[in-house]
Amino acid sequence: MNIYLYNTISRTKELFKPITEGYVGLYVCGPTVYGDAHLGHARPGVTYDVLVRLLRKLGYKVRYVRNITDVGHLEHDADEGEDKIAKKARLEALEPMEVAQFYTLRYQEAMKKLGVLPPSIEPRASGHIIEQIELVKKILDAGYAYISNGSVYFDVVKYNKNYHYGVLSGRNLDDTVENTRALDGQDDKRSPFDFALWKKAAPEHIMRWPSPWSDGFPGWHLECSAMSEKYLGKTFDIHGGGMDLMFPHHECEIAQNTISRGNSGVHYWMHNNMITIDGKKMGKSYNNFITLDQLFEGTHPILQQPYSPVTVRFFILQAHYRGTLDFSNDALQAAEKGLRRLMAAVKDAPKLETASGADHSEEIANFREKIFEALCDDLNTPIAISYLFEVVKMVNSVKDKSLKIGEKDRDAIVSLFNDVVTDILGLVDDGASSSDTKILEGLMEMILENRREAKVAKDWAKSDAIRDRLKQLGISIKDTKDGCEWAVN
Ligand code: ZN
Repeated sequence: MNIYLYNTISRTKELFKPITEGYVGLYVCGPTVYGDAHLGHARPGVTYDVLVRLLRKLGYKVRYVRNITDVGHLEHDADEGEDKIAKKARLEALEPMEVAQFYTLRYQEAMKKLGVLPPSIEPRASGHIIEQIELVKKILDAGYAYISNGSVYFDVVKYNKNYHYGVLSGRNLDDTVENTRALDGQDDKRSPFDFALWKKAAPEHIMRWPSPWSDGFPGWHLECSAMSEKYLGKTFDIHGGGMDLMFPHHECEIAQNTISRGNSGVHYWMHNNMITIDGKKMGKSYNNFITLDQLFEGTHPILQQPYSPVTVRFFILQAHYRGTLDFSNDALQAAEKGLRRLMAAVKDAPKLETASGADHSEEIANFREKIFEALCDDLNTPIAISYLFEVVKMVNSVKDKSLKIGEKDRDAIVSLFNDVVTDILGLVDDGASSSDTKILEGLMEMILENRREAKVAKDWAKSDAIRDRLKQLGISIKDTKDGCEWAVN
């Protein structure tokens, strides 16, 4: 099946043709581990997870590298301010690697809850200092970097004379001038556009490594160039990340790759759009910064209730990854309802009654095709989900006996749900999709236990009365050889 992906760099949807031999190489920029995983981490986590799951379902072997940034990410995104992890370590009187380890584990746990499969390789920036130093040497040797007071900077102005700095984000250096702070004279840089490849550590800076230039640490953009080349080679298939990383992070990666590898290194650039909350950008200043744990537990003041990880995952998948996604209690509650309907159909499908002679194979095959077509059309999950709900309708019609299907049809529905809902979209019935469901299940267990006891005691009047009362409440029960099944009508 042909896959089409929107390539940020060509600004068109392109037919996906893997260039890495033997596997699809995917690199995604991971988190900077200095705080709890938040909503902003959920979207790239889920988006690239679905991409990996889809590629694997279609028979590709995927080598998925998602890094952990544990050094070099300074407060003001580029070269200024304190290292984010070192700052947290200073405030909490911890060794920086304790901070990094703590939040790495928290991040991995949150991703696991969201049903995000672990990457094939999860390299840490601090574990690749040697590779980064080698990369700086290469860029220096090529004449596109300079040493200044023990730091090394990439010469963007020189680079832009021969290549286009801004090729990904569509910027031109000249247009960027106004938005860039002028040098204050204290700066080691020749131009405000230049970015650090290596920073000399100030005396109080705890995270430092020896290098030919100074005791210091690598610039943030460098790690992704070094680690993607190490694990995926000089050119690889897909590089993903959030739109906020397009500039300057990915733009700088392209510049570093172009000089050190002789090419930009990446075939397809994918960027997921951002999440807003009630129409506003998420940020501490808006008081709407929600961590994933707060979301799962319902502990942030703007949340009316907890939302289970699978509800959040489903909510993310209901929008196309390149579109904006607005979080609100209403939208999440709607997603929760939709998910419950979908999961009920998935659960009921294997038990559907079949009739000989009934045949809907063409219809089901058609749904399957449309769903895969949508997924292969630049991961159009909302369209795929809308077709899934056509299948849900079919399941419900069989349940209320307005439609008859054959045994083969039932098998086709079950396999479609397995392939798409479980394997590709990664949606599982976590039983916690609603606390109400859990309570209901517990209560029903108690009630049916009572009825079993009445039957054992041959108290038929009581066992019938329980059945009738449940029926009045809209709950039907059916005695089977394995016990008793119940369903909400
Ligand atoms: Zn990166």
